[in-house]
Amino acid sequence: MKQRNQSSKIILTLAGLFLLFSCSHQRSEKDDSATVQKEYKAPNIILLIGDGMGLSQLSAIYYFGEKEEPSFERFTHIGLINTSSSSHKITDSGAGATAFSTGKRTFNGAIGVGPDSVPLANIPELLFAKGYLSGLIATCQITHATPAAFFAHYPDRNNELILASQLHRSPIHFIAAAGYGYFIQETANYLDSLRDKGFIVDTSQIKVPDDIRPTDRLIFLTEKNTVPKVSEGRGDFSTSAFEAAISYFQKAERSFFLMIEGSQIDWGGHDNDADYLISEMLDFEKVVEAALDFAEKDGNTVVVVTSDHEAGGFTLGANEKDTSYSSHDNIVATFSTTGHSASLVPVMAFGPGAERFAGIYNNTDIFEKILGLVK
Ligand code: MG
Ligand code: ZN
Repeated sequence: MKQRNQSSKIILTLAGLFLLFSCSHQRSEKDDSATVQKEYKAPNIILLIGDGMGLSQLSAIYYFGEKEEPSFERFTHIGLINTSSSSHKITDSGAGATAFSTGKRTFNGAIGVGPDSVPLANIPELLFAKGYLSGLIATCQITHATPAAFFAHYPDRNNELILASQLHRSPIHFIAAAGYGYFIQETANYLDSLRDKGFIVDTSQIKVPDDIRPTDRLIFLTEKNTVPKVSEGRGDFSTSAFEAAISYFQKAERSFFLMIEGSQIDWGGHDNDADYLISEMLDFEKVVEAALDFAEKDGNTVVVVTSDHEAGGFTLGANEKDTSYSSHDNIVATFSTTGHSASLVPVMAFGPGAERFAGIYNNTDIFEKILGLVK
């Protein structure tokens, strides 16, 4: 017995020496990697916003999608948020996104300003000061309310020309969306203002140039007006945009904040068009999956999915005349409004710090929780 203990001690010492050797060997090889390993690396943060995605929209993928296990099942922490704005019980997307981007409730229609119309600092601005780079992806024009709340400050979401004129002043480094037409205005060409700020502007395709330099910024606005519906030929826009963003940020070697909007789930709700809504949900699910795959591999990336509000009063009920439960295998997708609703909406989180997103709270807390991920 004693003998065995001794020999295992020797083995342990040898193992220790070997470890020591391999560590010091690695250190000399990898340019002081021992110090780098100990250094705090702020987590990457991917915030996915399903515009108009309530619980029924989320549930629809179970009944109308192909996958047995939608990627939403991979989230470890789940919450619900109250989405009201400062002016209305039922928010619009401007106030809804401003709650996320600035942590303050504001009036419906506002973009990045408080109830007094005074500009509020947004997440990309605050995180830039902490060494982060930020990116925005949307399946609509970049000047639409949700993405605009992450770069602009203006009391009226409908003035998309003014929102476009503010983009070059924001610290965003990567964009993939649509709407280059909004930047070419009578008095100025704001695509040129973006080029002056180091942006490579591409209005034809999403492709990160091979010879990109660390100082370059990237903006892909592939359509003059907006991104086509899934049913009208969007193709793999969402996942290509995501892959391009990841490749850009990895070359930049900085922690990043990336907001991705599934913009047209909401438009399907407004149109009371279940096919439109569901195809947009399925497209959104694909980019959620890509984000989770990346986060799982990376190990230092937090993925948060939420919604600014529910839209359409969408339900997955049985036929209204069925009180006998006989046709309860027949889901009838119905709508109760062409506007938004006040239902709580889901929050799902994965990655380091995901636990802070569990619970029931207000939309503005998303901002606090995101900033709380960064030391
Ligand atoms: Mg939106
Ligand atoms: Zn809407």
